[in-house]
Amino acid sequence: MKTTNFERAVFFSWHCNIRDCTYCYMSTQPKTSKTGKIARRSTESILAEVLITKKLGWDFGFFSGGVGAFSHTEFKELLEKVCIVWGEKIWINIGALSKEQIIDYKPFIKGVVGSIETVNEKIHDKVCPSKPAAPYYKMFEEAKKLGLKRAITIILGLGETIEDFEKLKDIIKKYGVTKIHFYGLNPQKGTIYENSKPPSAKYQAEWIKKTREEFSKIDIQMGIWEDRVDRVALLLEAGANSISKFPALKAFGKKSAIEIEKQAKKANRKFIGTLTKLPNIDWNVEVDKLDIDKELKEKVKAKLNQYLKNMKKS
Ligand code: SF4
Repeated sequence: MKTTNFERAVFFSWHCNIRDCTYCYMSTQPKTSKTGKIARRSTESILAEVLITKKLGWDFGFFSGGVGAFSHTEFKELLEKVCIVWGEKIWINIGALSKEQIIDYKPFIKGVVGSIETVNEKIHDKVCPSKPAAPYYKMFEEAKKLGLKRAITIILGLGETIEDFEKLKDIIKKYGVTKIHFYGLNPQKGTIYENSKPPSAKYQAEWIKKTREEFSKIDIQMGIWEDRVDRVALLLEAGANSISKFPALKAFGKKSAIEIEKQAKKANRKFIGTLTKLPNIDWNVEVDKLDIDKELKEKVKAKLNQYLKNMKKS
């Protein structure tokens, strides 16, 4: 029986130096938080989430956040800790990296994700005015030379049409992309897409189906939000491997999470991991096993308790 699973993207900040991509929540945020500090998560909160991701059998989609939230050195230290908790190398999605940056992060990463967002160049110029695609393609070339994998994210519903698929096909071939995330527009308050409709299930399925037909081995993630869980079976049947974007911590055990597991069954897939049942494990023991300092361990335990309490509630 074929399988499927949930893939968690772990985010490290609400801050982004670019802040002008027209669909993005971060574009509506102030440059600094009310306290004047850069809005980023604490290390313990990130590590607690990574441990939950691991113990619930989810995949680690990628580590991501806004551009400029951490310095290069700070990020490298954080990355190392994340890898200790996860137990293996991860994907990162943190903007277009230089060759030097990739070399520095290489001990901790298996690949780089380029948030291309749309392959329609005219639309790209409009929706990502300060985030051109060319530096991402350059990053892919460097990553390839260094033996790292390449992945891309696409947001459907920005104004492109299925006619743009040929362009996507060329990019996948040219840069040896082995993983693709197909998200659908999630209209954000305060952006120009506020009153737009998200792409239909049929349209998202069409992109996935065409990609699967062209690339039999590519790893395809469907990004679905809580209001779109009823399309999971359709997207799996179209050729998606796994499910991402769903707010799995907040919605753990809720109707929408139960529905995802049901939809997997409907598509004849075995669901690996769980979105509905907390495993019976001693979380403190799991934290104690980690090779991180004692003070941080205690902070991670406290954060874990908070997360687990909320998850148990639902
Ligand atoms: S670079 Fe990324 S995080 Fe920053 S505004 Fe654009 S989409 Fe949002």
